[in-house]
Parts: sequence; structure tokens; C-alpha cells
Amino acid sequence: MIELRNVVKKYGDNTVLKNINMTVHDGEVVVIIGPSGSGKSTLLRQMNLLEQPTSGEVLVDGDIVSGKVKSEMTRKTHEKIGMVFQKFNLFPHYTVLENIIHAPQVVRHESRSKATKEALELLKQIGLTEKKDSYPASLSGGQQQRIAIIRSLAMHPDVLLFDEPTSALDPEMVEEVLKVMKSLAKSGMTMVVVTHEMGFAKQVGDRVLFVDDGQILEEDTPEKIFDHAQHERTRDFISKIL
Ligand code: ATP
Ligand code: MG
Repeated sequence: MIELRNVVKKYGDNTVLKNINMTVHDGEVVVIIGPSGSGKSTLLRQMNLLEQPTSGEVLVDGDIVSGKVKSEMTRKTHEKIGMVFQKFNLFPHYTVLENIIHAPQVVRHESRSKATKEALELLKQIGLTEKKDSYPASLSGGQQQRIAIIRSLAMHPDVLLFDEPTSALDPEMVEEVLKVMKSLAKSGMTMVVVTHEMGFAKQVGDRVLFVDDGQILEEDTPEKIFDHAQHERTRDFISKIL
């Protein structure tokens, strides 16, 4: 469970998050939508302490984890909460297999053989076993993103955060990535997903949050948000992404 209490994030004089309160329960899939620059990525970065809030608190499983720079708690939080980015971020000079087994060996101190066994199992699940010795640059965007997802999974995270995971992909590759994400959601993984893919939100989202100007303006079930939003701002935004 992740909880944000009165989280404020400033960059200089620019207040990007204005008193955010939210909870992500175990097994929940929370979808975040909102205009460009509204603070969605910044919000995700608070959840795994990629950045510290300016004020307020972040709690993971009931423990306050924020405000303790470079502590054991920060390290554990990074490990528990994985993140998948828009731009895949695979290590270009590592093969697919090396990409997946690197962190489990270095951070989790798994043996090479155990990490490799798990990596091959994950590759099999997404149908990319034959790519294990390829380098990222030789793969399609959709393949790279699916590998980025299983690379996160290899760390056995409690929660996975996704920041617009399909928005850098060619349209024909979006579905293959969404399919992996949907199956993860159905397996019970706790997920927070910044995406404007409404089909995904409606199919597996438990809640949708509309972030506007650094605040959660509105939150509800996908059906309510997409078809019967309360606020004019929300309706206006949704009409633009449809
Ligand atoms: P997009 O949909 O374009 O990805 P977003 O909702 O994810 O937008 P953020 O990236 O969270 O928005 O940015 C929110 C605001 O914070 C923007 O005004 C941005 O310029 C500012 N910002 C984000 N990161 C930094 C940073 N590291 N330093 C200074 N300002 C930043
Ligand atoms: Mg963003």
C-alpha cells in the first residue's frame, strides 16, 4: 500500500504538486490522466522516492519512507516499487538477458543461474525467448517495452508504476504492450498507470484520477470518469483524448 499525505512538490518557485492525498491499495490498478504539465510524472516520482516531496509524507505499507535521504528505507522503497518509463530505458550495451538479470544479481544478490532461470521464464511468458541474446537497438519499440516490464518484474516488486508506457510506440505495437499490462493487472499486481489508453482503464482500472494543475481534481471508477465526469475541466479533457 502506498499513501501520500499532504504531498507538496516545488521546483524553485514552481509548485508542481499542491497538497496531494491519495492511497493505492494492494492489488489495485489506479489510472492517472491529465493534461501535459499537470504533474503526473512528478506524482509518480514521489511514490517510489525517485524524488523527495518538498513537504508532506509518503508511506509504504504504513511506514513513513519520505524525508530519509539515502536511508535503508529509501533503498527498500526503490526495490519494492518498480517503474516503467515511456522511453523503455533498457541498457543499450547489454543483451536482453543481461538487462533482465543485472539488478536481481547486483541488488538482490541472486546467483547468476537463479536470475537467468527466472529471466528465461519471464521471457517465455511474453513470447520473446528467442531475443535473449539480442541488443535492445535491434528490437521493435513494443518488444523493448515488454522487456522493460519484465525487467522490472524480475525484481519482484510489490507495486509497478508506469509513466505513459505506450505513448512512444507506433500504433500497431500499443496492443502487445497493453496485453502484458492487462495480464499483470489480472494476476493481482498493484499498479499505478499514467496513460490515456481508455480501453485499458475501462478493462482493468479500479479507479481513475484526473490530475489538473498539480491537484487531483476528481477521482472515480473508469465508467464514471469517462462517461459522467463531475467537473467541466475533466469532461473537456476527456473529450480531447477520445
Ligand atoms: P506530460 O503529460 O507532458 O508528461 P506531466 O503531467 O507528467 O506532463 P510533469 O512532468 O510532472 O507533468 O511536470 C509538471 C511540471 O513540473 C511542469 O511544469 C514541469 O516543467 C515541471 N518539472 C518537472 N520536473 C521538473 C524538474 N526536474 N525541474 C524543474 N521543473 C520540473
Ligand atoms: Mg509526464
